[in-house]
Amino acid sequence: MQIFTRNAQRWASKPLAQEQADGFKAGVKEQGLQEVMAHGSYLTNLASPDPRIHKLSVAAFEDELDRSEALGIPYFVIHPGSHKGTSFQEGLHTLTISLRRSLANRPDYKVMLLLETTAGGGKSLGGSFEHLAEILDQTAMPGRLGVCLDTAHVFAAGYDIRTQAGYEETLDAFKTQIGFGLLKAFHVNDSRSSLNSHHDIHADIGEGKIGLEAFRLLVNDPRFKHHPMNLETPGDEAAFQRNLQRLYDLRRL
Ligand SMILES: [Zn+2]
Repeated sequence: MQIFTRNAQRWASKPLAQEQADGFKAGVKEQGLQEVMAHGSYLTNLASPDPRIHKLSVAAFEDELDRSEALGIPYFVIHPGSHKGTSFQEGLHTLTISLRRSLANRPDYKVMLLLETTAGGGKSLGGSFEHLAEILDQTAMPGRLGVCLDTAHVFAAGYDIRTQAGYEETLDAFKTQIGFGLLKAFHVNDSRSSLNSHHDIHADIGEGKIGLEAFRLLVNDPRFKHHPMNLETPGDEAAFQRNLQRLYDLRRL
């Protein structure tokens, strides 16, 4: 399961009450849910060159980190952000300094921060495995950071996972540049936008430009048998059920 721990479209939020945290933890236990993930707010940009936006972003990020910890959530996923036209190096610097500071101020936290692979393009960070590796290196907080691979994003970023050869080549690149030890979770989405388009538009499994084969390979890959995978496909509860069923149907019995 993946959740937002606060309103993802607003800067302000009410503090989390102890009863809410306790209720959530009890519910997770009762339902037998494993590997719950929190997803960061959409406004947050820890790489922002604008001091006002950066300050708001750090506050929102730290609040979500605190909430995730209070809720007993093991993984908190964020997008690395955008340098907004300054430079990759500048964005990287702003981002990694912020991550280091926030994590270093919370030395006992159990929640692990996951950086999500992004569709890339001109201004966004995290669109290639090399870039993600650089962010992880410079943040230099071993054990506190990992990666969440989003199938739609890597495809839009230019990694062609549509065939077995392309799928293996992509994962080999990940293994070489980042290492499987840091690959902690997946976002499983088809893509409405094309290979290398750098546009982040999700589609139902098997109905986008990626097609079923990549998902068949992923859900049968023994290396990721125990990794949490979350759907972020469009639509309502019924649509999620359809997509989930499609993934189940792809599994070899
Ligand atoms: Zn995602």
